[in-house]
Amino acid sequence: MINDEFISFTIEKQKRIALIAHDTKKQVLIDWVEKNKNVLKGHFLCGTGTTARLIADKVGLPVKAYNSGPLGGDQQIGARIVEGNIDFVIFFWDPLASQPHDPDIKALLRICAVYDIPLATNRSTADFMLTSKYMSEEYDRHVINYNKVIHGRLNEFNK
Ligand code: PGA
Repeated sequence: MINDEFISFTIEKQKRIALIAHDTKKQVLIDWVEKNKNVLKGHFLCGTGTTARLIADKVGLPVKAYNSGPLGGDQQIGARIVEGNIDFVIFFWDPLASQPHDPDIKALLRICAVYDIPLATNRSTADFMLTSKYMSEEYDRHVINYNKVIHGRLNEFNK
């Protein structure tokens, strides 16, 4: 076990989906959620503060709201990923505007990569993801087995 290269975590049939959109992309995300309401209503939804409230108001789906992005909402979502409580991310970020919380955005994208989280950063990827056969199945994501690294470092330290 300690020597395995990665550890598997199951993304259940019912996904725990985070929804985030920068201001210029909020309407795109609202329209996408509206279009896919029938699929999305079968999953748990959460999002950064403004995005979550807008989607709940305009589309009528329940969306748990974290803090607004500039106040640490992206970091909260990243932490939930690390804890294993969010396993699917739709993040329509704006590549043409600078954001005050740019380091938090980078951190979230990095955490998604580390934890092998399906991540859509634009509408077309989100469409491909939502029509994947894995939406109605379990899926095993693979996370690097850092226990092995820690074990090696402890051994080095204790020499
Ligand atoms: P918001 O945050 O949903 O509160 O606007 C999104 C973001 O800027 O990351």
